Amino acid sequence: MINVALDGPVGAGKSTVARECAKRLGFVYVDTGALYRSCALFCIRNNVEIDPGNEEKISEILNSDLDLEFDIVDGIQHVYVNGEDVSDQIRTREISKAASDISALPSVRRFLLDRQREIAAKNNVIMDGRDIGTVILPNADIKIFITARPEIRAKRRYDELKAKGHDVTLGEILVEVNKRDFNDTHRKEAPLVQAPDAILLDTSELTFEETVEGMIELIGSLTEYDK
Ligand code: C5P
Repeated sequence: MINVALDGPVGAGKSTVARECAKRLGFVYVDTGALYRSCALFCIRNNVEIDPGNEEKISEILNSDLDLEFDIVDGIQHVYVNGEDVSDQIRTREISKAASDISALPSVRRFLLDRQREIAAKNNVIMDGRDIGTVILPNADIKIFITARPEIRAKRRYDELKAKGHDVTLGEILVEVNKRDFNDTHRKEAPLVQAPDAILLDTSELTFEETVEGMIELIGSLTEYDK
C-alpha cells in the first residue's frame, strides 16, 4: 500500500488539496481531523466537559459508548457516530474549538491511533492531520508538510465560512487560527511539527491547481505509484 502522510496547520489547504489529489490518483483520502471532531461532538452531546481534568471520564465514555465509523461515498468521507452521519454537524466553529481541546488529551489520541493505522494498512491513502508523519505513519512512503502564512490561512477560512453564510470578521478568524496553531504546536502529546523527513510545501503564493499538481508530481516521483 502507498501511504502519503500530509500534515500542517489549520487553513493550509490540506483537506481540499488532499481530496483532489486522492481523486486523481485513485487513493483514499482520510481526514483525521474529522475523527477528533466526532469525539468532541460526542462528548458535548453527552454533557461531558472537554477539560484535561476530565480526561478519565472522557476516555471512559469514548471507549465504552462511542462507535466511530467512517466510509467514503463518491470520494467524500463520511463519519458516523453510533450510526448517525455527523459529517455536517462536526463543521461548526464550536466543534473546531472543542476538537482542538480534545486532541490535546493523550487518551483520546491513543483511542484514535489504531483506527488511523488500520485504514492506512488496507488502502492507498493520503492521510491528512497534524501527527501523521511523526506518530501515526512514521514509515509513510512520503511525508508532506503543507503550510501557508497565518494571514493567508485565516483569509481562506474566512472565505469558506462566509460562503456558508456565517457572520464573521477576518480579525476574529485570524485570532482563532492563531489560537489553534498555538494549541496544536504547544501540546505535550504529538504536537504539530514537521517530521525531519517531510517535504515542506508552502502554498502562500500557489493557486489550488498549482498545489495539487505539485503534490501529485511529488507523490509520483517518490513512490512506486507510477511504476
Ligand atoms: O483538521 P481539522 O481542523 O478538522 O482538525 C480539528 C482539530 O483536531 C485540530 O485543531 C487539531 O487540534 C486536531 N487534530 C489533531 N491531529 C490530527 C488531526 C486533527 O490533533 N491528526
